[in-house]
Amino acid sequence: MPNQTPVSAYMTPCEEHLRRRILHEGPLTIADFMGDALGHPQFGYYITRDPFGRAGDFTTAPEISQMFGELIGLWCAEVWQQMGAPDKLHLVEIGPGRGTLSADMLRAGKRLPGFLKASDLHLVETSPVLRDVQARSLERAPVPVSWHNDIATLPDDASLIIVANEFFDALPIRQIQRVEGGWRERLLAINPNDHTLALTLSPGPSVIESLIDKNLHNRAKVGRVVELAPLAWRIAGDLGKRLAIQGGAGLVIDYGYSGPATGDTLQAVKAHKPCGVLETPGDADLTAHVDFTALAHAAAQGGARVSPLMTQGDFLRGLGIEIRAQNLMKAAAGPGAKQIEIARDRLIGADGMGTLFKVLGLAGPNTPPLPGLEPA
Ligand code: SAH
Repeated sequence: MPNQTPVSAYMTPCEEHLRRRILHEGPLTIADFMGDALGHPQFGYYITRDPFGRAGDFTTAPEISQMFGELIGLWCAEVWQQMGAPDKLHLVEIGPGRGTLSADMLRAGKRLPGFLKASDLHLVETSPVLRDVQARSLERAPVPVSWHNDIATLPDDASLIIVANEFFDALPIRQIQRVEGGWRERLLAINPNDHTLALTLSPGPSVIESLIDKNLHNRAKVGRVVELAPLAWRIAGDLGKRLAIQGGAGLVIDYGYSGPATGDTLQAVKAHKPCGVLETPGDADLTAHVDFTALAHAAAQGGARVSPLMTQGDFLRGLGIEIRAQNLMKAAAGPGAKQIEIARDRLIGADGMGTLFKVLGLAGPNTPPLPGLEPA
């Protein structure tokens, strides 16, 4: 008998679902794949779990230290004050994870009299599991809290201050690859030889090619990949429209780059380690780096003013993270103080999140210059 290695029959429910879709519809775009792997109402990664922290798959800035949310809370309070301290304001967090950022923001916001009195909190979240976690984190929130599936249902009767940390990297992207004589879209298919999920190229050009930056379109070398994020652009455009009409400000924080650029940034992470993007659909986090230039363009087209792009390190230093860390370190004893120092360095250091993560400010046309992001 030939020595056969048994092939594991286990397939994630999300992979079974994707295979059924491919059989019925043909190859899927990367956006369809990402949308299902992360957000399918039954099998999606975010829909079925709380992925954060040491026991989970990855750790975000608010989960590293309370300093992150506190400084952003004070930033929001300052924006509100500079807007003339309106007596009604909607605070919005999009993609709130465990609700830690919002909880820390509100705690810090207590320092500015009147800010919380004017505010309520709106969380835009599609995951029922994470909504439960958020409700627990915000059980004693000092302001009314409500949830939305989509930014479309946010209230329109007052100004908004919107925060989105590591939200846009989770939105589906499409990938177009330069080939000899044109462009093809990267698609998810089933390999006819071994029946594994595999990436392939569309047989002909894709209409979405028209969205590629003109310069890139003309100059990219064969083999290069361009990523397009139509859903992220729609959301940024809608936020821009709301800020233009309702007034207020927005803070987008994420890993990303100033485009236009080429590169395949789709990545999967499981238990804090990179893994293959097709390995366990629905069981691993999938993200793509954010093209901040394209996002800013979409928000500006919607009518918002956009700030110059800044690194997370520079932004948090400008908001006083070093002094805040020193104060916390004084109050904490020995090992506690060391932990705070490590957290600070992770948030602002170049080998941590300080340079890879960027901050983009959005503002309504009448909002005064955004603290720490726009020249006063
Ligand atoms: N901001 C949090 C969590 C980031 S993870 C933090 O910094 O810790 C991404 C978050 O966005 C999760 O809460 C996820 O459930 C949510 N999310 C992903 N896609 C979404 C969508 N299309 N609409 C609303 N929320 C979404």
